[in-house]
Amino acid sequence: MNKNTNATIKELQTGLAQGTFSSAEITSDYLTKINLLNPDINAFISITREKALEQAKAADQLIADGKASALTGIPLAHKDIFCTDGTTTTCGSRMLENFKAPYNANVIQNFENQHAVMLGKTNMDEFAMGSSNENSFYGPVKNPWALDSVPGGSSGGSAAAVAAGLAPAATGTDTGGSIRQPAAFCGITGLKPTYGRVSRYGMIAYASSLDQGGPMAHTAEDCAILLQTMAGFDKRDSTSMDKEIPDYSASLNNDLSGLKIGLPKEYFAEGLNSDVARNIDEAISQYQKLGAEIKDISLPNSKIAIPTYYVVAMAECSSNLSRFDGVRFGHRCDDPKDLEDLYKRSRGEGFGEEVKRRIMIGAYTLSAGYYDAFYLKAQKLRRLISQDFSQAFEEVDIIAGPTTPEVAWKTGEKSADPVSMYLQDIYTISVNLAGLPGMSVPAGFADGKPVGLQLIGNYFDESRLLNAAHQFQQHTDWHQMSPEEK
Ligand code: GLN
Repeated sequence: MNKNTNATIKELQTGLAQGTFSSAEITSDYLTKINLLNPDINAFISITREKALEQAKAADQLIADGKASALTGIPLAHKDIFCTDGTTTTCGSRMLENFKAPYNANVIQNFENQHAVMLGKTNMDEFAMGSSNENSFYGPVKNPWALDSVPGGSSGGSAAAVAAGLAPAATGTDTGGSIRQPAAFCGITGLKPTYGRVSRYGMIAYASSLDQGGPMAHTAEDCAILLQTMAGFDKRDSTSMDKEIPDYSASLNNDLSGLKIGLPKEYFAEGLNSDVARNIDEAISQYQKLGAEIKDISLPNSKIAIPTYYVVAMAECSSNLSRFDGVRFGHRCDDPKDLEDLYKRSRGEGFGEEVKRRIMIGAYTLSAGYYDAFYLKAQKLRRLISQDFSQAFEEVDIIAGPTTPEVAWKTGEKSADPVSMYLQDIYTISVNLAGLPGMSVPAGFADGKPVGLQLIGNYFDESRLLNAAHQFQQHTDWHQMSPEEK
């Protein structure tokens, strides 16, 4: 297979600028590879072949005319949660099987303004609810490193597409780990920005106070390039922050000496697989060699993160998903006898099992009599979890640990027991509850499957995370490994 399809964005930018290849050539290389491998991996829900080739041709013209910007002609894949004008946006659901948004999400528009190329829309857990990508109406996604295993979720299609070389990079969204966990499982680099850094406009809502879009790529350097385009204030998202966007690539080569890295003892306790732990320990030693100072810290409320998150996320999803009523959006049942029948059957047919479970639990926790006991309580606990981080960041610059307690599990292994699946989110969800930025960086293998190192930063400190991840990648080659060479 053409080696360009394993290239980084940085390498593609150079190749395009020097005329080594055209955007049309690399775009058709990716499309060929998608045709060949997607039937096995199922990373894409839709492949926008015609549009991609048209965009590539237009990009080549801009490059020839000297009018290119950073991402002109770079092919990308987008999670099917981002609305794209003219192509379907399914959110992994039957509910939106035929939904064509009449506008682009802010993130998509930012890429279009730079004349990047869209290869297609990637598979995902239905409405971003899941950790394994088994909850998609369009079938499960397979992990390119082990086709019998899950790629992680909910941005599993994006992670699998990048890992398999079907796209050099992709967008994802992270409500409780959905960028970092699939990045870890598929051996790629993913960044969940600070809440409010990237506009949520046109990104279909799961749990609005937690959802955040971000980049998934081979390297931290590529994540920096993508975040530069994704980040920024958007008045159409009331939680978007009007804050200066630093030059994320400019600080990648800063020296790490004196960087204080905190290791939360709760992230290295019972439940962490020993092979994963060994890889994380080695990654920490690497940071020590680079001059970082390692400190033991504690995030004492980590143990309440899972129940807190699942109460907040389900409450918000039950409210957000009430708009899918068979009247205004998406699936409508045949021949409803009355309005109630229309609601019941449209929602009954349109939503999958996990989505229904969460809507029901969420509606219960918000109902009169239970609101104080569950929802209000969870909001208070959420505050405690954020305070743990604020205290930790008085002592350290970044926090490091595993992204996940285990490597990718076998497809089907946990799907019958939703709680065992929820428990896998233990290290990622607190970051969303606090609204902090977090990354996952490839850091080795256990049982032949990739291990992710998680780096957590203070609010709007993405530059420091990207710098720390980039320096690690200058001294390790985990991020360069490809399942094709396995
Ligand atoms: N696994 C978590 C959930 O199911 C996180 C999903 C996400 O980040 N979108 O809610």
